[in-house]
Amino acid sequence: MPKKPQPFKQICKNCLWSEIVAPKSDVLLPNTIKSVCPKYYSTLIERAELNILDYVRLKIM
Ligand SMILES: [Zn+2]
Repeated sequence: MPKKPQPFKQICKNCLWSEIVAPKSDVLLPNTIKSVCPKYYSTLIERAELNILDYVRLKIM
């Protein structure tokens, strides 16, 4: 059985934009991972683990 992919978060270190990425399958769509911030086009995107609050947000999304 394939392992379910773990959701993660993308955070812009520049403007603190963030987005939760929760893959539905083990195949990530190419446009899911951002290399440029959609707000100010900064490239300081970092991948981070979800915290408790993010999991709450995920549940209500
Ligand atoms: Zn940004």
